[in-house]
Amino acid sequence: MRKIALTFVAACMYYSGLVALARWWTRRQSSCLIVLNYHRALGGDLRRQFLYLRRHYRVMHVEAALEELYARRKNGRRSYDRRTPLVLTFDDGYRDNYTHAFALARELQIPFTIYLVPGYIESGRTFWWLEGERLVKHAQVKEVTLDDRCYHLQDPQEKAALAQLIDGRVRYAQTVDERETFLAMVSEKLAVSAELSEDEMLALPVTWEQVHEMETSGWVSFGAHTMHHPILAYLKDAAEMREELESCSAALAEQLGHPVRTFAYPIGQLQHISDEVLDAVRQAGYDWAFTTRYGFNRRKGSSYLLNRVEVDTDQHWLVVAAEAAGLWGFFSRLRWLPFVRKYLTNSGQK
Ligand SMILES: [Zn+2]
Repeated sequence: MRKIALTFVAACMYYSGLVALARWWTRRQSSCLIVLNYHRALGGDLRRQFLYLRRHYRVMHVEAALEELYARRKNGRRSYDRRTPLVLTFDDGYRDNYTHAFALARELQIPFTIYLVPGYIESGRTFWWLEGERLVKHAQVKEVTLDDRCYHLQDPQEKAALAQLIDGRVRYAQTVDERETFLAMVSEKLAVSAELSEDEMLALPVTWEQVHEMETSGWVSFGAHTMHHPILAYLKDAAEMREELESCSAALAEQLGHPVRTFAYPIGQLQHISDEVLDAVRQAGYDWAFTTRYGFNRRKGSSYLLNRVEVDTDQHWLVVAAEAAGLWGFFSRLRWLPFVRKYLTNSGQK
């Protein structure tokens, strides 16, 4: 229901001309770069979204777009294409980025960038944030005791609570080793088989062979997203933080045959990016780093706190159009106005 309502609002914005007006307004301003952030490529109409974006924006590879944004002065050659530059990023490197997004990129001739986590590639493991739900779903025992609490797995509420406990423990782990040891222990306690379902296979990371094929095509470029995707600010040891950043850079350079210059913070909200994290990213040799803070990028902004606009393949293309035009952020910020908040609170209680 909420999805239909959002699509309806987005359709009103689009067909009233508001989206076109916002695009025109952004285009008039010099040095603006829009970066969209996807994760999965499956489960929606990515094709329709790409077609819209290709028509209305100058879709570029990330490094070329950032070089253009931060160029000190414009050289004499001005592009005849006055559309606002836009970059498509996919975080984590899910396999459906290869099976679905890459096929579209080739067909529609549209570039995008994947932020890879080399430690997961060809490990046979799904990403840690999928593990809580997966382990509980495939548990072969009727009950389990964790942190002094017994969970009865026939009760859906206790199952959900257990999945939440697992997720919290791995999310806030202070070392990657602690996280992996905990997951192995829970997996054993729940007697979960290592075999993955077909859906879970699609949530595995891309393989190196797929990375090479995408790189060779020229339509896909890559950036770094740490070696094992910890939330960097939670790591207790500064040396481990540096290792996560440096070994990721080294692994990608070895596989791709050239250094990667951009980095995306895992779970990149600003509260997870401390001064120590910023320094470590700089020292690891990256030139630019992306957060998940909402917004467009301007030349005067920090090159280590770049903004992105979160989108999802699951959204209607009209919603993506409103997001890329900057309208969605504007309207969603209205919820902080007292009377809008009151209305939302009341309608939420119904
Ligand atoms: Zn990520």
